Order: sequence, then C-alpha cells, then structure tokens
Amino acid sequence: MKTIVLEEPERLTTVDREDPGGPVAGEALVAVRRVAVCGTDLHAFLGNQTFFTYPRVLGHELAVEVLETGPGVSNVAPGDVCAVEPYLDCGACVACRAGRPNCCASLRVLGVHVDGGLCERLRIPARKLHPSKTLGLDALALVEMLCVGAHAVGRAALEPGSRALVIGAGPIGLGVMAFAQLTGAGVIALDVDPARLEHCRRALGVELTVVAGEGADRRVEELTGGDRAEAVFDATGSPASMAAAFGHVGHGGRLVLVGHANAEISFSDPLFHAREMTLLASRNARPDEFTRAIAALEEGLIDPAGWITHRATFDDLVGAFPAFARREGGLVKAIVDLG
Ligand SMILES: [Zn+2]
Ligand SMILES: [Zn+2]
Repeated sequence: MKTIVLEEPERLTTVDREDPGGPVAGEALVAVRRVAVCGTDLHAFLGNQTFFTYPRVLGHELAVEVLETGPGVSNVAPGDVCAVEPYLDCGACVACRAGRPNCCASLRVLGVHVDGGLCERLRIPARKLHPSKTLGLDALALVEMLCVGAHAVGRAALEPGSRALVIGAGPIGLGVMAFAQLTGAGVIALDVDPARLEHCRRALGVELTVVAGEGADRRVEELTGGDRAEAVFDATGSPASMAAAFGHVGHGGRLVLVGHANAEISFSDPLFHAREMTLLASRNARPDEFTRAIAALEEGLIDPAGWITHRATFDDLVGAFPAFARREGGLVKAIVDLG
C-alpha cells in the first residue's frame, strides 16, 4: 500500500509498504481519509522537533473509516467514520491507573514515536476510535487538535467571567481560545503576527488582541484593568515566550504551558511567589475530551472549517509539503485528502 515516509529532515518519499493485515482482538482496520498537518509534522520535516526519530511516517490528526473489526470490538462497526485518539498508552502505569493516559509514562504517539497515518490503511486499537454519525471528514481530522485546546482549558479550571490570555494564535492556540470562550471566559489573544490576530477576530470573534514585543505587557495590563490574566496559556513552544508568559499572570493566577520546547525555562521566584502562581503543563488530551470536542462540533458550538487554509491530495503532498513547512500563503491548517 502507498505510504509517505519522512526519511530524514526535508526528505519525504512515497514508498510501497506491506498491507497491515486483518485486525486482531480489540483492533480495527481503518482506511485513512484525511490527515491534518500539525506543527509537530512541520517541525519534524524541518528537523527541529523534540523527541523525534527518523525515518517516520507522519500523521496523527486523522479522520478514518472503519473497514473491519477484530473480535471483542463493540464501539465501532465497518462503515463508521471516526476521529483517532493517536496516543497509545500502556494502561498500567501510575498515570494510566489515575485515568490520565494522555501522560502515560511510556506513551507512544502515532506519527511521532511510531508510524502514523500518511498511508492508505492502519490497524489500531478500536478504543482509540471516536465515531460521529454527523460530522464530515475534515471536521473529524481537526478533532485531535481541538482536544489539545480542550485539555489545556480543563487544566486551568477556567471560570465564567475570568480573563484568559492565549499566547500563540496558531491552530492549538485557536483551539484553546475556542474552548475558553465556551467556559464563558473573556479571551485575549497575543501573537507576533498581526495577520494571525486578524484571523482570531474573523474565525472566533476575539476582539482583544495584543501584538507581542515591546509594550505587550502594558497592553495586557490595560485590557485587564490592571489585574493581568487569571489564566495564561502559552501555545508557542518558544522558550522566550514561555519565560515572558509568567509576567502576564495575575495575582493568584495560573500559567498553562501547552506548547513545549527542548530548553530550560527560567522565571523570577519573587514574581512567582508574590503572585502565588500555579504552573501547569498540558500534554495531549484524555479520551473524554475527544467525546466533548466531537459533541461541541456536532452541536455547532465550535466551527473550525475556516481554519483550513491549505489542501493537498495524497499524490501532491510530497511536492506541497516544503511550502507548508515554510508556512507560505498564511498557512493556519493544511489538510491532506486521501479520498
Ligand atoms: Zn498535532
Ligand atoms: Zn501508562
């Protein structure tokens, strides 16, 4: 079957790989229909993704159709279309036992630690499939990205009327903003790129925006009546931005690091203590957040269709990917259509 492999940074090749074979107990064989391209994929292509080894088949934001199920599978049936929870957890470690498989001690993520979805067919544990009777394939391919936002918002335990500052207006930041709005929080978006802030306004109606750099701190203070934010989310993966984010947290507030960086982040302890901040990491998402995100899409509470700025077919992808990686043409989200 046709598969696209990232052999090494900047070198994607199309190869013919052996078919995955029939599903065993608890598994499903699925046809991959859509793959959304993530920042992780772009960084892997450019050779600057943390915890990444080559060669690798990319693709963890997937919409799939069930072809066949193995013994003991009851949550999906052939013909179902599903979003995929691409986090393969061990089920036994301290995090898994606590109901937090998203941060399993031996987590393997499809398309990152093991081969992912840029291929025609995959065998996958059926419990990792989240079907919808009404959503289209594009929407299903965006579910994983949205879940990362839902999880980050859950980590911050946002309350209605509180102020949430979201730093980084890429797809993950947009997901954080969308779920923060659903909790009734007021959202402020901060990004280095005014065009991305304009996109926040158009796509999500986020009126309060701040351009990163000199004066950003004062602007956040102004927009919050001097309080700064009750919850700050950093979705940039930039060590400098993550370090600066501490300054935007109000007294008693929380900082959630959604993006991650292969670096040490330092902060002022007097600032951290004076404001009695809570610092949280947010990694991936839990299964119940997939259920919630799909429900939010089905009910029309979130509509990320306008976030898709670029498309490619499976045949075009090798040629199109370098321009995606350079984010040409104002790339927010690219979708690969496998038919
Ligand atoms: Zn992703
Ligand atoms: Zn585990």
